[in-house]
Amino acid sequence: MEPAQDWIGPRPHKLDWNDLYLRLSVTDACNFRCQYCRPVIEEHANEANFLSFEGIERLIGWCYDRGSRKVRLTGGEPLLRRNFPELVGRIHSRFSDIDLSLSTNGLKLPKVARDLREAGLDRINISLDTLNREKFKSLTGVDGLSTVLESIEVSQEVGFDPVKLNVVLLRGTNEDELADLVRFALERNLYIRFIEYMPHCKTETNRFEVFSSREALDILSKEFQFSPVEENDRPIGSGPAKYWNVKGYDLPIGLISSVTEDICANCHRLRVTARGELVRCIQLDLFENIRAIIEEDRPEEFYSIMEEAYEQRLPTRPEGHVFFLGMQLVQTGG
Ligand code: SAM
Ligand code: SF4
Repeated sequence: MEPAQDWIGPRPHKLDWNDLYLRLSVTDACNFRCQYCRPVIEEHANEANFLSFEGIERLIGWCYDRGSRKVRLTGGEPLLRRNFPELVGRIHSRFSDIDLSLSTNGLKLPKVARDLREAGLDRINISLDTLNREKFKSLTGVDGLSTVLESIEVSQEVGFDPVKLNVVLLRGTNEDELADLVRFALERNLYIRFIEYMPHCKTETNRFEVFSSREALDILSKEFQFSPVEENDRPIGSGPAKYWNVKGYDLPIGLISSVTEDICANCHRLRVTARGELVRCIQLDLFENIRAIIEEDRPEEFYSIMEEAYEQRLPTRPEGHVFFLGMQLVQTGG
């Protein structure tokens, strides 16, 4: 994990186990082909190469023992992992006080939402970048908008609270739909968060330009009146999002300036890929495979790699945000 180059800019925060937010990818396969996420990647889903359920539980346990209480299961599309509800049940029954959440594209959710709720999943984030069927199809490669809309309804019916929608800001694709998406969410008591598109290295020539959350807010301000949400009123699991109250509605909207603003100080995320690579920061091409350490139950090695990754070897990041990571989010988990 040597620094790839000399860096400038402030050093990110130090390791604080109590704040650590473990984001575990459980598969790098996906049933969508979102243009901004996995246009060039081939199918990878050989589950024999993935961390086992025992390994995932062990890793969560190591972080839990040091104080971490927040885990998100992600992917790829996590619902493609075989026996996924069983994994949720195993995690919940061993660590019932963990805030356990899921990121999903929703395509397989209507059939398993109830099982996941009963297995102990607390919260759910569903990706929804457009409300237009044709755009949805061309963006994801799947004619799946109606199923995803159904998954949102079912998630609320079975009691997930909150249900959050994640929208990637895509210039030329959804900039004309931002207000419709806000209305869609707030009228249904859904949280909505807009995330700046991150130009990762391996995506197809980075075909989207960055579309800033400031610009999105300016567009939305033509139709809504906003006021900033006070620090103490931020919704649970809000991480680096900035929230704005919307006049006339009960819920705020969130904007995540992953590219145009310095949000690193509020980021406590540690990603582990389905194959067991520890990814300390999604901007940097630094990762270390810890699968054997996890599967062979060597916690002391894990703790020392963590100390090293946070305290010693992580370089200061460059000024502004430059995405050097050679992985796509379909691999690292979003
Ligand atoms: N398949 C699930 C889903 O789509 O929600 C979970 C994994 S996906 C990698 C997690 C999140 O990352 C999604 O909300 C997705 O929109 C976001 N994402 C993927 N590629 C991105 C990119 N280049 N820039 C910003 N967000 C991205
Ligand atoms: Fe789309 Fe999520 Fe699949 Fe990436 S992992 S291609 S964002 S559905």
